[in-house]
Amino acid sequence: MQKIKSKRMEQFDLALRGELEDYREACCFCGDALTDIFKTHNPAPLNREEEAVCCEICVDKFVRPARMLQILNFR
Ligand SMILES: [Zn+2]
Repeated sequence: MQKIKSKRMEQFDLALRGELEDYREACCFCGDALTDIFKTHNPAPLNREEEAVCCEICVDKFVRPARMLQILNFR
């Protein structure tokens, strides 16, 4: 698990230097192809898989409302 996370950090490092080539990940909700790592989002708490990412549309549609609910439920 730790290994996969550090792999993602490496990808970010490469991307920051403009050296990340052929980056391609699928949104875990709608399956859209994501080719810009800076436009990927963490889908937690809806999907906690280490490698899961989601697109900007789904983060607004599903992830942010879920986070809001979580905050409300913790009160
Ligand atoms: Zn999506």
